Amino acid sequence: MSVVLDELRVALGTRADTALITDAASLAEVGVDTSGARRGAAFALVRPVTTEEVQAIVRVADRHEVPIVAQGSRSSLAGAASATDGSILVDFSRMRQILVIDPLERLAVVQPGVRVEELAEAVERQGLFYAPDPVSSHLASIGGTVATNAGGMRCIKYGVTRDSIRSLEVVLADGSVINTRRNTIKSVAGLDLTSLLVGSEGTLGLVTEITVSLHSAPGPSLGVSAMFPSIGEALDAANEIATGVTPPSVLEMLDDVALEAFRRYDPSIEVPDAARAWLLAVTDSRVAADAELDGFEAAFARNGAITVRRAETAEELDQLFATRRALHPGLQAYLGASLNGDIAVPRGALGEVVERADEIATPFGVVISIGGHVGDGNLHPVVAYDPGDAEQTRLAHAAQDALLAVAQDLGGTVTGEHGIGTEKLHALDGELSPRVRELQRAIKAAFDPKGILNPGAKL
Ligand SMILES: Cc1cc2nc3c(=O)[nH]c(=O)nc-3n(C[C@H](O)[C@H](O)[C@H](O)COP(=O)(O)OP(=O)(O)OC[C@H]3O[C@@H](n4cnc5c(N)ncnc54)[C@H](O)[C@@H]3O)c2cc1C
Repeated sequence: MSVVLDELRVALGTRADTALITDAASLAEVGVDTSGARRGAAFALVRPVTTEEVQAIVRVADRHEVPIVAQGSRSSLAGAASATDGSILVDFSRMRQILVIDPLERLAVVQPGVRVEELAEAVERQGLFYAPDPVSSHLASIGGTVATNAGGMRCIKYGVTRDSIRSLEVVLADGSVINTRRNTIKSVAGLDLTSLLVGSEGTLGLVTEITVSLHSAPGPSLGVSAMFPSIGEALDAANEIATGVTPPSVLEMLDDVALEAFRRYDPSIEVPDAARAWLLAVTDSRVAADAELDGFEAAFARNGAITVRRAETAEELDQLFATRRALHPGLQAYLGASLNGDIAVPRGALGEVVERADEIATPFGVVISIGGHVGDGNLHPVVAYDPGDAEQTRLAHAAQDALLAVAQDLGGTVTGEHGIGTEKLHALDGELSPRVRELQRAIKAAFDPKGILNPGAKL
């Protein structure tokens, strides 16, 4: 490996002293993402600042067939950004410039290390709007969200990250650089490599520049929440709103298990005795906010809502969101810890997921709450367990696995937004046919014939 290190020093030139890290303690610290999944030990970390530096680093790795794992902010919940054995970690946090904001073309060009929140705030100052909003937007890099095709709460109205990406500059596994070039709103020239690269979790190339689509600034977010006597009635209301003329910007649900946790552990949240489900619908319409709020209230009333709260200011809406934010602390209060899942199913199957989660919880001896971005059918089942009890920890993971199988059984997926990484690889066969997996591996081989880009992840 000393040859590789020598060549990396040459590649980085005078910046090698600060841009190349090799001490074992630092590497161990950065070698694992937020999932906690350890895949192996890196032998170096580099912090490039230009595309040319990325190319030079990749050429060294290519020559010596050394694995490369790209890292944005390591907020992956899937093990996708954890080091593999003997890998070079390419940390994009120093490529953090917003290069262009173009109000006429409704686009921005950014380096991959810019955080989602930084971009959103920068374009907002110009009356524009970047739609993707993962809950981790204060942490996650644009490059990481492109590589995972991150979702968030606003997907029901604005789609996922892919829907906001126009083109990418990407360093390929041999060190060459491509631009997928679609800076126009429309283009059907050739195959759509941009869409293929978005969500590829660092397995097809390293993203060094991103052109994103922007919208005009929406109106202020306002919303209505309601408590329902049953999950079925809440789901009927959610489906009525989701399929209405104007989609809400956010549509979130919590189930009876979450509400019971609030009753027991968080008296600041008022939960009527008869309540078994909670819904929140938000609008960011500039022209018809009042009418949309009226529409949410009417749909809630038609479907049996017990109590309804309307938020007509940002502060009031924040209070409604406080209920959603209380989910994890509430569930953790049961037994000490919680696991966060990420399945997605067709909206028509949501009721059955809830029923089948109940059937899983009892034999596994854990507490499971089903809720999340109900408008997209993207649920984050939370499994509460006692982390001090090894058997219960095992059962909590087994319960999450059982939920993956339920999602697949109902025509859904094991990951709506967090990605496959290494943590869900075992579930891919249950979802993709052998022929589809073979095609995906052939695409990987075309991009990365030596298999050096994030080996062992994603596919
Ligand atoms: C509190 C919390 C809340 C979260 N909420 C959401 C949510 O609402 N929605 C959601 O979708 N996810 C969510 N996540 C998961 C995570 O934030 C996202 O997956 C995010 O997109 C990862 O961004 P990152 O910069 O941290 O990337 P990393 O974790 O560093 O990397 C993720 C993947 O992208 C690859 N990668 C990173 N940069 C590049 C690059 N420049 N070129 C090529 N590949 C690259 C890595 O190799 C890895 O495969 C959440 C995580 C946390 C901790």
